[in-house]
This record gives sequence, structure tokens and C-alpha cells, in this order.
Amino acid sequence: MILVTGGAGYIGSHTCIALDEAGFDFVVFDNFCNSSLESLKRVEKIINKEIAYVEGDIRNANDLQSVFDNYKIDSVIHFAGLKAVGESIEKPLEYYDNNLNGTIVLCTIMKKNNCKKIVFSSSATVYGDPHTTPIKEDFPLSATNPYGRTKLFNEEILRDLYTSDHDWKVILLRYFNPVGAHKSGMIGEDPNGIPNNLMPFIAQTAVGKRDELSVFGGDYDTHDGTGVRDYIHVVDLAQGHVKALQKIDSLKEVLTVNLGTGNGYSVLDMVKAFEKASGKKVAYKIVQRRAGDIAKCFADPSYALEVLGWKATKGIDEMCEDSWRWQSNNPNGYTKS
Ligand code: NAD
Ligand code: UDP
Repeated sequence: MILVTGGAGYIGSHTCIALDEAGFDFVVFDNFCNSSLESLKRVEKIINKEIAYVEGDIRNANDLQSVFDNYKIDSVIHFAGLKAVGESIEKPLEYYDNNLNGTIVLCTIMKKNNCKKIVFSSSATVYGDPHTTPIKEDFPLSATNPYGRTKLFNEEILRDLYTSDHDWKVILLRYFNPVGAHKSGMIGEDPNGIPNNLMPFIAQTAVGKRDELSVFGGDYDTHDGTGVRDYIHVVDLAQGHVKALQKIDSLKEVLTVNLGTGNGYSVLDMVKAFEKASGKKVAYKIVQRRAGDIAKCFADPSYALEVLGWKATKGIDEMCEDSWRWQSNNPNGYTKS
């Protein structure tokens, strides 16, 4: 059985579906600090079966031990963590506690229960401001905010664990920019309050919840002056976790893999694609750059194909269509729709 920490969240809920489709049994462990039980209820409807889940905090060893007592856990996919860059600058201790202490407690309990296989959610943020694009896995690493540092440190912690005991099997998946939603329109990204990320902000503007998108910077060295990112459909990303689990038993070292498409799209490319998919106008104005943002970030995804046999299959139009289906069916997300 697979333990999915943070399985009620945006990427976790989509991964539950992919796991089910691939024939993996799983149990979700989540404290619902940034999600709700409703996402799991919707996943149950989509896969047409009940999901095993435990409400608990990864920082709480007793909560975690109860999962190992009640289920035979073979591997862990570790999504649970806090993820807002701006909030991490305001609340560094909360981020270090949740993301680092959480991983340490999780790994301690895994070790105690002789479960030593882990797939970890890392991020392209660990590349800092890359000297060139596309980004390969061996590029230099750096971080400019507490959130990014938690990803870097967690990667190091997991590498140290492997160094200490080669029975550990560790896959570090560095996600680029996850967007989109399941085809059903029943699950998707449901940020609290004003979205920090581009796609949910565009979607909420199109549905009439926000007046206007602020485009952060129009003078970058990119094809239209706005920031370029590698947007990846969350269903493709979910599939990457299935491929990782199918690979994990044969690992001979820690595996670090980019999960991106290899395509870079600008903020204005995304606005145009979303307008086309939704048939709605997305009002925007170009404002100052956001502190800490970089001009361009997109993956070289060739290693993922080589070692995992994985590549992204869904393009920008499908990403926008699926985000729009979720947003327009659930204008207020899970709780108030
Ligand atoms: P999310 O907030 O939707 O999901 C995270 C889940 O973890 C939530 O359900 C939350 O309730 C749970 N959680 C948080 N702290 C917990 C704790 N202490 N104990 C138990 N559960 C806890 O975020 P997401 O977008 O699905 O991201 C999943 C992972 O992927 C995170 O580690 C995130 O940092 C990483 N990541 C996300 C992105 C992105 O843009 N979405 C990009 C790169 C990496
Ligand atoms: N962005 C923007 N307006 C917003 C949110 C984001 O112009 O309201 C831009 C941001 O500057 C970046 C891109 O959209 O160029 C993606 O930002 P996001 O926060 O989604 O991801 P990240 O910066 O972490 O890659």
C-alpha cells in the first residue's frame, strides 16, 4: 500500500486517481490545513470507490505511527507541506517546522517501520535563477526564500539518509508549474483567498471573481517581455508519480528528475490561451515586477523520459480548457460551490 501524505491537496488528489488507474492501493494522510475532505469525496466519485484516509499531521509521530499500525505501507509519496513563497518569507518558522520537521518525523517513522521508499515533491525553485534554459537536473542549486530552502534542505536530508543506509530508495521529483484539472471538472486547484499563482488568478478573473490580472513585469528579456514558465498539466504530473513508483525498486542511487514539458510560455501566452479556451475576456494590466521573480524557467525533460519513461502529453490548450471546466463548475472552489 502507498502512503500519500498531503493526498487531499491539488497534486495529491489528482495523483490518487492516477494511482487507482494504475492499480496501486493507497491511504491518504492529511491534516486538511490547505484542503478539505470534499476533494477526497470527489475523487471517490471519480474512481467509484471509497478512499482510505487518516486525518493527521506529519509532525506528529503518533498520528503517523497509527497509519503504519493499520496499513501495510510499502512506499510513501510525500506531498504534505506548505507552499506559498510570500507566506514563507513572513512565517519562516512555520515553514521550517512544517516542511522540514515534518519530513524528519515522517522519515523517522518510516525507518522505524522499515519502510524506506519515498517519492518527494521538490520544485524547480531549487534552481534559483538559472544561468540558461532549458534547465537540466545537474544545474547549480540555490534558493532565495524560506519555501525554496525547505525544498533544498529536504532534498539534502533525503540524500543524507541514502548515504547513511543504501536500503533507502529516494526519488526527488522537481515539478515545474502545475496547472489544469481533471477532465471531469470535479477536482482542481482551490487556493485560499487571493491566488498567488498565475493560473488560478487568470481563471478567477475569467469567471468574474477578480476584476483584473496584474501582470508582474513587461520588460523581461523574453519574447513579449512577460515572464516565461513551463506549465505542466497536473494529470501528466500525477502520472509521473506512478512512473516513479514503478521505477523505485530498481534504484541504485538517489534519482532526481525534472517534471516539466520543455515548453516555455509567457504570462500573455497563458492569458490568450485561457481566453480562447473559456470564451471570456481576461482583463489585465502590466505592473511592476514581483520581487524574487525570474525571467525564464523551463525544463529539459529528457532525463524523465530516459529514466522513468515519462513525458508530458497535454498542451497549453488542454491545460486551459480543463482549468476552465473546474473553475466554471466550481466558481467558489470545494466548500462554497
Ligand atoms: P496543496 O497545498 O494543495 O497540498 C498539500 C497538502 O498537504 C494539503 O492537502 C495540506 O492540507 C497538506 N498538509 C500540509 N501540511 C501538512 C502537515 N503538516 N501534515 C499533514 N498534511 C499537511 O499543494 P500542492 O500544490 O498539491 O503541492 C503538493 C506538494 O508539491 C507540496 O510539497 C508543494 O510544495 C510541492 N510543489 C507544488 C508546486 C505547485 O505549484 N503546486 C510546485 C512545486 C512543488
Ligand atoms: N504572475 C503574474 N501575475 C500574477 C501571478 C503570477 O504576472 O498574479 C506571473 C509571475 O510573475 C511569473 C508567472 O506568472 O512570471 C508564474 O507565476 P507563479 O507564481 O504562478 O509561478 P512561479 O513564479 O512560482 O513560477
